[in-house]
Amino acid sequence: MGISLRARVVLWGRSGGKCAICKKALVARGDLAADDSSAIGDEVPLVARAADAKRGSCDVFGPEKRDQHTNLILLCQEDHRLIDAQSAKHTVERLRQIKAAHETQVAAGWSPEDKRRQQDDEVYASSIDEWSSHSDLDHWGDISAALISGDAPVVRKSWYDAARELAPWLLVRTWPGRYPRLEYALGNYAWVLSDLLSVFDRHADLEHDWDGYLHTRKFYKSREWDEARYSELVKKYDAHVSLVCDLFLELTRTANYVCDHVREYLFSGFRQDQGALVVRCNIGFDLRTSFLRPEYRGAERVEKPYRGLDDFRTRRYTRDCFIGGRQP
Ligand SMILES: [Zn+2]
Repeated sequence: MGISLRARVVLWGRSGGKCAICKKALVARGDLAADDSSAIGDEVPLVARAADAKRGSCDVFGPEKRDQHTNLILLCQEDHRLIDAQSAKHTVERLRQIKAAHETQVAAGWSPEDKRRQQDDEVYASSIDEWSSHSDLDHWGDISAALISGDAPVVRKSWYDAARELAPWLLVRTWPGRYPRLEYALGNYAWVLSDLLSVFDRHADLEHDWDGYLHTRKFYKSREWDEARYSELVKKYDAHVSLVCDLFLELTRTANYVCDHVREYLFSGFRQDQGALVVRCNIGFDLRTSFLRPEYRGAERVEKPYRGLDDFRTRRYTRDCFIGGRQP
């Protein structure tokens, strides 16, 4: 799972963004402002990971504890190399003392407002971690491929259940109020997610999950042949499928929007390694794989880019991409 956003916000905030040994100001890996690679900060585990164990016993910790902020120290790359090369001198206990002394020194220079900001940042970061894991951002490509590639939208049951919990959870959150644009972006995500789920539900078979997936009913299929009725239902079915797909594109757009705001307000290195969320679709007779990167652009980047389902039915054709269906 790796180091959570909260652990990184706690580590970088309480370290004052500086190396615990030489006090050099550091930037996060992937930060676009990082034109000096030697200023990139390393989040170094005190008790190291199994693969690169230099200190302590890896068997003592599980992976969750290894990646907690209490087991991490922020160092410049030079000091990181130094402590690894001199592991007998830089024991876990010694590094723990260095970390504690550095964080105490940083906190001593804080104003009451600095303290409040750090507390607020940690609250936001915890919520963003919940949002990331419930949304399963790390498997977004797989989720999108199931939803968009076939002739009927299919949703992984575990993702659906988590999303069902997430939407109301986000809508009732009380936020610190420090970064209203980030809060709006999360509210926007919750709104799109609620609408996606309610539209999907209209024709989903929620009673059965087939191999862990919920399927859309092909409601145009009928035992009695009635050409006019059939063609009317196929049209309705196609419109439904294209709306579900376009709502998922909008959800991806709004998730990328949240990530942009997290990088702007909380932590510049957030999901920089993974990059933007993309939608994977397998289309055509040969199931060619193509990728879309839906994002709000230009004048769409306002506090509330999504204005409800009725508005979206026409606005979707003005977005950077849409799937299926044509503007009526
Ligand atoms: Zn240093």
